[in-house]
Amino acid sequence: MSETPYSYDAPASQALFDRASVVTPGGVNSPVRAFRAVGGTPRFMVSGSGPYLTDADGREYVDLVCSWGPMILGHAHPEVIAAVQEAVARGTSFGTPGEGEVALAEEIVARVEPVAQVRLVSSGTEATMSAIRLARGFTGRSKVIKFAGCYHGHVDALLAAAGSGLATFGLPDTPGVTGAQAGDTIVLPYNDLEAVQEAFHRFPGEIACVITEASPGNMGVVPPNPGFNQGLKDACGKNGALYISDEVMTGFRTSRAGWYGIDGVKPDLMTFGKVMGGGFPAAAFGGRADVMAHLAPAGPVYQAGTLSGNPVATAAGLAQLRLLDDAAYDTVDEVSRRIQALVTEALNKEGVAHRLQTASNMFSVFFTDRQVRDYEDAKRQESFRFTAFFHSLLSNGVYLPPSSFESWFVSTAHDERAIQKIADALPAAARAAAEATA
Ligand code: PLP
Repeated sequence: MSETPYSYDAPASQALFDRASVVTPGGVNSPVRAFRAVGGTPRFMVSGSGPYLTDADGREYVDLVCSWGPMILGHAHPEVIAAVQEAVARGTSFGTPGEGEVALAEEIVARVEPVAQVRLVSSGTEATMSAIRLARGFTGRSKVIKFAGCYHGHVDALLAAAGSGLATFGLPDTPGVTGAQAGDTIVLPYNDLEAVQEAFHRFPGEIACVITEASPGNMGVVPPNPGFNQGLKDACGKNGALYISDEVMTGFRTSRAGWYGIDGVKPDLMTFGKVMGGGFPAAAFGGRADVMAHLAPAGPVYQAGTLSGNPVATAAGLAQLRLLDDAAYDTVDEVSRRIQALVTEALNKEGVAHRLQTASNMFSVFFTDRQVRDYEDAKRQESFRFTAFFHSLLSNGVYLPPSSFESWFVSTAHDERAIQKIADALPAAARAAAEATA
């Protein structure tokens, strides 16, 4: 049993965590779930409904994680569940082409204009890994530019200065990634176009692509400066490299067409995940037809997957995307604005220095008085205040991401009752943040 100041009465979760820790490293299947950044017992959830999660101890939480983005319609949306039930009754995997994957690809292509063709995979990590391989195969070059604090999944070559779980754990790099795997990765400060131009100048004809989160959410929410994404696109165009926009988090969340629908900068390749899977493992990469034509079996760059285009996952994703019309995005945006306002009001009332940063309906709170423009800024926040804020909210039934380097996510299902529950919990949380000491 781990005893911390934040071990509230969560005996069923604690018992499950103890069991899990015997058979699974750290007791979890994805590091941030272990609560190591904030301490205490991770809550084991048993069900979700609309904006709520219920844990193994029977406690209900308003969910501001939404499975790290996918659950934009809330949990167990009846129409998504019906589509899944209908699909699952017909069988779970065939290893052959099927109509569901065609329909999901058509939906993506119809929504995101730069995507002429798309290949379905099972995780965001696979999507970015495959997009990088394709960019290298297409250009015949090896080097990749990425930005510090941007997370693109646990692709070996991209685990240099990644945000998210790695930011949380303060690991500058991970053992197991060889010099050869990371050696072609150039890591630059986010929002620094000069650094990008310098890199192209230093390595002429060697850079295959620039990959960036369309609007980063993995060091907390740090939107691109005006003109930054366009500057990347122009630098890539001028130097024969591909511009890859990673929309795994922002895709189909920040608008109908994701961040592309907001900034209109046309990438050569894009990656998607999260929302497009409706809570199932489905992801994708796609883009220019001439680039995608290099992918096997049409072209020489190999890429494959036993469960790619899985019929149940594609049914869930398609049902979710079809429900995401303009009205749904208006609702999510409005829910987000209301919660943002409540957070700001509560923290201001207690005189807590903070920056609430937004990217459409994604937002996060940094406990600092300075604007956060890159990973170095993000690391300067007073994370100990977040820890106190987080645990106060948790004990009052509001479930935030268990790290200050993450975006908060809301859904169309966050109704008056859910928002009121957040409003009721915030004053004590703001006080806890104000009183916290390092
Ligand atoms: N790219 C971005 C921007 C992400 O936020 C994530 C996951 O959080 C990934 C890629 C990796 O996706 P997955 O966890 O599905 O492998």
